Amino acid sequence: MARRKRKYRKELILIISIIIFIYSIFFDNGNYEFIEEILGKYIQISMQENENIEVKPVNFTDNLYIYFIDVGQADSILIHNKNTNALIDAGNNEDGKLLVNYIKGMGINKINYVFGTHAHEDHIGGLDDIIDNFEIENFYMPDQVITTATFEDILTSLENKQLAFQTPKIGDKYNIGDGILEILNISNNESDINDTSIVIKLIYGNISVMLMGDASKKVESKLLNKNIKSNVLKLGHHGASTSTSTEFLKKVNPKYAIISVGTNNIYNHPTQTILNRLNNQNITIYRTDKNGTIKLISDGNTINFEFEKTNTNGG
Ligand SMILES: [Zn+2]
Repeated sequence: MARRKRKYRKELILIISIIIFIYSIFFDNGNYEFIEEILGKYIQISMQENENIEVKPVNFTDNLYIYFIDVGQADSILIHNKNTNALIDAGNNEDGKLLVNYIKGMGINKINYVFGTHAHEDHIGGLDDIIDNFEIENFYMPDQVITTATFEDILTSLENKQLAFQTPKIGDKYNIGDGILEILNISNNESDINDTSIVIKLIYGNISVMLMGDASKKVESKLLNKNIKSNVLKLGHHGASTSTSTEFLKKVNPKYAIISVGTNNIYNHPTQTILNRLNNQNITIYRTDKNGTIKLISDGNTINFEFEKTNTNGG
């Protein structure tokens, strides 16, 4: 019986092949696109299954969570409090799918505020994947038009989702659960694109965090007369010497410094001058190249850190 069944299966495959062959010659002008389409769909499904293997839902408490996600020589910061999420930057182009899987794996499907700090690829590269794959409420970026494929991809994804390209103003505030994000800097017209960076101060209870994008000393000098004192400083421009002036660092006076940076990157970030400057002020340094993804967890009075080597480092 078993042998006969196998024999019939062989014949069935042969008959189906002949039907497909005849169909393709007479009805499809000899092109095999429809077969490729079916095979392509099958391959796509198996790839998606593979990418979704790692699922680690996070049991969020009422605390504030800030994930400085390790995306190599790039930035991506996820903020969560009480069912509200903000994502600031999304790494390079190749980080997009890894980030989507990582954030979805945490159990997050909706992002209330997505910020692209400025139009460089190491900050906005994965944003098109983020827009394509999450329910997004608001999208913000500086209104400086750039003609790169990376930027065009974002505009296409926004259009497909009928999501507006919004540009915040200095002083704008957004609620993240019980936390408040305040825009301290944004510019739509700078010769150095780094200086268009959206700079954000996050206030949660008695703690505050400064997120600098890639803003340089020029921007820092404009912030000196503002209330910038913070417990944590995410350094501007991956620890390059063009950011984090002595004067600025003294005024922010952080206890912790975060540097989002790639292992053995060609720019030699962070520079030794900056590391010395931080050490001279007895600031504890955490770096994504050494610590992996850096997780800040706070109840509004104390700050704790956890670290995780993730698969989000696409380069
Ligand atoms: Zn950068």
